[in-house]
Amino acid sequence: MKHQPYESWILDEVPLNEQQKQELEAHLKTCSPCSSLQSSWQEARKQIQSATVRQPSAGFAMRWQTGLEERRIAEEHRQRQNVWIWIACVSAAVALALAVIFLPRISFIQILIDMVESLVGLTTAVTVFLRLVTSVFRSISPLTLVLAYLGLSTLLILTVFLWGISIWRMSLKGVAHYEKD
Ligand SMILES: [Zn+2]
Repeated sequence: MKHQPYESWILDEVPLNEQQKQELEAHLKTCSPCSSLQSSWQEARKQIQSATVRQPSAGFAMRWQTGLEERRIAEEHRQRQNVWIWIACVSAAVALALAVIFLPRISFIQILIDMVESLVGLTTAVTVFLRLVTSVFRSISPLTLVLAYLGLSTLLILTVFLWGISIWRMSLKGVAHYEKD
């Protein structure tokens, strides 16, 4: 069965003249694909119109806002945790480097035990400090936080780098001195 121009008439919604209307009516009576197309198209239009007219309720908007806020806070919390984990790792690495450089004669097992003990102490200190700082950070905007993280990270990397270089130089001098004796 030929469905054109009836499909276009149904979907395009151009105004039809009387003769076209009668042709369409006649075709819809005999053609089930076109009549179901017309009914589903009208249903879809109704849905679209009621969807555009219907405004979200105030409660919905508020729940949506609250959800956003909760997700933002969770994300900030995660970022902060990452920063502290990173700081803890760097501190542990520096502590290990210092131990290896300055305590070569002490048994390695003892160093490991000391390191684990100081790591546990560090974790506790970090947790306490984190709780303290978190309450302060809650009132600061995310942008300030990000900038603070960036500044802090850069400062820390620079410090560790310079520290490492000076320690390395010191140990080189020490070794040279030791060999001369
Ligand atoms: Zn048809």
